[in-house]
Amino acid sequence: MDILLIHPPVVKPSEPPAGVARLAGALREHGRSYEVVDANIEGLLHLLQGEVPTEDTWTRRAFRHREGNLASLRNGRAFGNIDRYIRAVSELNRVLECVSGPFGTQLSLSNFAQHSCSPVKSSDLIRAAENPQENVFYPYFRDRLLSLLDEHAPRAVGFSLNYLSQAVTTFAMIGFVRRMNGKARIVLGGGLVTSWLKRPCWSDPFAGLVNHLVAGPGEEFLVNLSGGRYSRCVPLPEYAPFRMNPYLSPLAVIPLSTSRGCYWAKCSFCPEQAEGSRYCSLPPQRAIRDLEALSEGEDGCLVHVCDNAVSPAFLKAMAARERAVPWYGFSRVTRDLTDPDFCAALRRSGCVMLKLGLESGDQGVLDDLGKGIRIEDSARALKSIHDSGIATYAYLLFGTPSEDEESARKTLDFITKHSSHIDFLNLSIFNLPRGSREARGLDTYDFTDGDLSLYQGFVHAKGWDRKRVRQFLDKEFKRHPAVARIVRSDPPSFTSNHAPFFMMSHIS
Ligand code: SF4
Repeated sequence: MDILLIHPPVVKPSEPPAGVARLAGALREHGRSYEVVDANIEGLLHLLQGEVPTEDTWTRRAFRHREGNLASLRNGRAFGNIDRYIRAVSELNRVLECVSGPFGTQLSLSNFAQHSCSPVKSSDLIRAAENPQENVFYPYFRDRLLSLLDEHAPRAVGFSLNYLSQAVTTFAMIGFVRRMNGKARIVLGGGLVTSWLKRPCWSDPFAGLVNHLVAGPGEEFLVNLSGGRYSRCVPLPEYAPFRMNPYLSPLAVIPLSTSRGCYWAKCSFCPEQAEGSRYCSLPPQRAIRDLEALSEGEDGCLVHVCDNAVSPAFLKAMAARERAVPWYGFSRVTRDLTDPDFCAALRRSGCVMLKLGLESGDQGVLDDLGKGIRIEDSARALKSIHDSGIATYAYLLFGTPSEDEESARKTLDFITKHSSHIDFLNLSIFNLPRGSREARGLDTYDFTDGDLSLYQGFVHAKGWDRKRVRQFLDKEFKRHPAVARIVRSDPPSFTSNHAPFFMMSHIS
């Protein structure tokens, strides 16, 4: 076999991996032989079958309920009300916490932290590769990888590494594959690897362990590595090999990327801007054909449009569609979205939820960030979208260099004033991307001594530092009754990946 592609744990196990499906689509299109493994869902389900410890009543109950809780996330019963959902997810997380504790690891359905191993330190990741048996997923991946290597003898093994929560286990798996099959080429790509490689002064600390580090789309590289000749077609992603995986969602979720990079790419805090990624997109009609082809034959599904920001052209094409397929995605606040008729048409296209980067309720802060949106447009868009029956998931960012306490209060005012049009909220504290335009001229310092860290701290000129921001959020912002109601609705662990199901009444 040419290539074995692996999606390592841990990311939210609600849907198949978009990146690996895209690579598989390219390999299929070029006639290459490949196998894909979602080691994330497999590994988490393996650990959820762990031994029952004789601990407190809550823990014993969490173990006793695990099959019922998994079933309720798959059959939709957990989505009937948020309290039932929170109980199911918390109990599953409790099981993972108990089985991972003896490995010095704190594990949940969305996170992984091994106390002795930092994902932003290359020396720690190399140590994880040298000692795979110390990883909590080892009993799972030892047997699974051994049988795959034996059965298929792949010429290359590719790992898709997108999040910090995957890094330590990715390297443990790489170390294991190296030990078991010294001949297979190891390829490492994905969003996190792309960010590493685009860092200023990058120098490869993984030489000798990883044969190829790939920045950006990996299709061309993999097709050529496997002996094919890459043609510049953009094939459909391949989800068939993932169809049998029991993802934790009540409908099949189909990730679809209609673009790469961001058509706006001007927000100063955004890695897309700092990394200077090139933007490319599918023509809207082609993107819609892909959406229809991927959802065809599914007995109920939800399309997750994974673009950093869906393009206005794609939104217009969706709004003009006659047929509805449930979908959701991230959008900038555009003029079109302030129009109630346009939003009603989007709703008819199947749009269930839009994620919107509002960031701040202070126009000066928005202008400084390069967001290119007006607050009054955000307010009108929230109303039009929400009134049309589409859920709104608003993203806010605090502690940016130009924000101060007064600006943060303006954000609180904005949210409370428009809270009846906001269904979900995501609150973040600003991280300064290394090498970004924003970092120039600021007094910066390192959060950690990790050589792979992508972000830095900075001395806030207005004294509005992380500690004060955190206090404001915890003691004031989240306690406002209008905000508390929205924050309480956010699905723990899965957040926006599960939020749409709460808006689809037939699910529960
Ligand atoms: S719109 Fe979103 S993805 Fe695009 S530059 Fe701004 S923050 Fe980044």
